[in-house]
Amino acid sequence: MQLLKLKGTFIAATAVVLVLWLLSLPPGAFTGDFWLTRRTLVLGTGVMAFALMSLAMVLAVRPVWFETPLGGLDKFYRLHKWLGISAFVFATAHWVLRLGPSWITRLDLFVLPPRPPRSADTSPGFNIFRDLRHAASEVGEWAFYCLAVLIALALWKRFPYKYFLKSHKLMAVVYLLIVFHSFILMDRSYWPEPIGPVLALLMIFGTGASLMSLFQKIGVSRRAYGKITQIDLHHGNDVVNVTIKLETAWPGHEAGQFAFVDFDDPEAAHPFTISSAWKNDGRLSFTIKALGDYTRTLADCLHVGQAVDIEGPYGRFTFKGERHRQIWIGGGVGITPFIAGLKALPDPDQDRPVPIDLFYATKLADPGFTSQIIEIAQRKGVRFHLLEEKDGFLTLDYLEAFAPDWKDADIWFCGPAGFGQALRRPMLAGGLPASRFHQELFEMR
Ligand SMILES: Cc1cc2nc3c(=O)[nH]c(=O)nc-3n(C[C@H](O)[C@H](O)[C@H](O)COP(=O)(O)OP(=O)(O)OC[C@H]3O[C@@H](n4cnc5c(N)ncnc54)[C@H](O)[C@@H]3O)c2cc1C
Repeated sequence: MQLLKLKGTFIAATAVVLVLWLLSLPPGAFTGDFWLTRRTLVLGTGVMAFALMSLAMVLAVRPVWFETPLGGLDKFYRLHKWLGISAFVFATAHWVLRLGPSWITRLDLFVLPPRPPRSADTSPGFNIFRDLRHAASEVGEWAFYCLAVLIALALWKRFPYKYFLKSHKLMAVVYLLIVFHSFILMDRSYWPEPIGPVLALLMIFGTGASLMSLFQKIGVSRRAYGKITQIDLHHGNDVVNVTIKLETAWPGHEAGQFAFVDFDDPEAAHPFTISSAWKNDGRLSFTIKALGDYTRTLADCLHVGQAVDIEGPYGRFTFKGERHRQIWIGGGVGITPFIAGLKALPDPDQDRPVPIDLFYATKLADPGFTSQIIEIAQRKGVRFHLLEEKDGFLTLDYLEAFAPDWKDADIWFCGPAGFGQALRRPMLAGGLPASRFHQELFEMR
């Protein structure tokens, strides 16, 4: 459902810019004259590329007011990705249309109609739009080449995440170059037309966002500092549980939200779900699995008293559903939001409990880790089901055996994307509305 909403937002944003640009065209922009039509298309593809890249830039700085309409930061980072890719597609078309005629002429491919003479601007004095045109054109071309390299690195999954993160920061510089290029070269007749104010706003917000990124101001107002007070290792499933006591203010969080955690080391902050429920005592826990280069080193590097910088909370995987019946499914370390969810549930004798089944599918269960979950689940009246890989995969048939009423429930899923798809598809085919399958995207790239 959230992905459908994202797709809708993406299509709507692209369509709005396109329609506003079409409404802003002077009469005769597509007259059949080769050079005039080509000029219109060069400008149009430029407008589209600039607008979509500006929106991507704004989303990059984690504006929290987009979280509710777009379903959380993990979701709108997906939208950021689609906007970036589409901006690049329009930028490529812009580059081909702009330089194509000179390639055709040079390669003698076919004969182009004669180019109409340019009207010379002979007004005296410095005219920013006239005198900087050549520089803006050169800057735009080089910015396009940089954009191509940065997008390729972002999409090349084998390129290590930490280098991707560093290279991606250069996007802010590339964006500022594109602002300069667009401001100077955009057709001045657009400014008083419907597209003009929209582009001006995008330029202002996009420039602000890129400056925030360059001066490392992203998320500063949502940062808190604390120290590690406890470290619990679970060797059976390579998980380390870290408890932190905050020394600065924390706005509180809902179960299922996540934060960017920086353990005061050279590594960039990583996103981890907060596996504790908020009790106003300044304590947060994170349950971290050794999944990659950095997380594999954590168990050996962390120590009690170590400083931690936390930015958040983010996310809308917060168990607010349509139905008075929920099924929670955690795959591997995807169990973390449910641990927080369990802790945040009222005791069954205090409130009318939502009937919940929690399924935990894992390669190999660590007895100490699992027994803690079982203990809280029992206390909170949640039915717990453990499935280790040696006993098979968690399929819809398996789930149905324990929760035959799944069609009446809200499904909350957190785990590998392929596992999510393998459950979501038959559930939707079996009649579950897409709006009731909630999925955390554990991947930000
Ligand atoms: C919303 C969300 C919640 C998460 N919650 C948990 C949790 O509770 N417990 C847990 O163990 N894991 C969680 N993860 C996954 C965790 O962030 C990655 O496993 C971890 O960052 C991997 O880092 P690595 O360097 O060890 O692995 P690598 O092998 O270097 O990277 C593997 C993948 O991890 C992601 N990643 C790496 N570094 C970063 C970074 N700085 N920022 C964002 N993503 C990065 C990338 O997708 C990358 O491809 C969560 C991820 C997201 C997006």
